Amino acid sequence: MAVPKRKTSPSRAGMRRSHQALAAEAHAECANCGELKRPHHVCAHCGHYDGREVTGAGKDAKGVVRV
Ligand SMILES: [Zn+2]
Repeated sequence: MAVPKRKTSPSRAGMRRSHQALAAEAHAECANCGELKRPHHVCAHCGHYDGREVTGAGKDAKGVVRV
């Protein structure tokens, strides 16, 4: 079995891990309520998408017309 010749130094490990940072999630402001939401997704806070309500998010679902 191949064995590393030297122990990985903390400096080397840090250099390797310098590329592992996670990128920030894409986000946009909801035009209806102003909450941050994922682009091209229904707003989880108010249920609006493209200027109209498409789900009854955050309130009683009774009476909500789904189109
Ligand atoms: Zn919203």
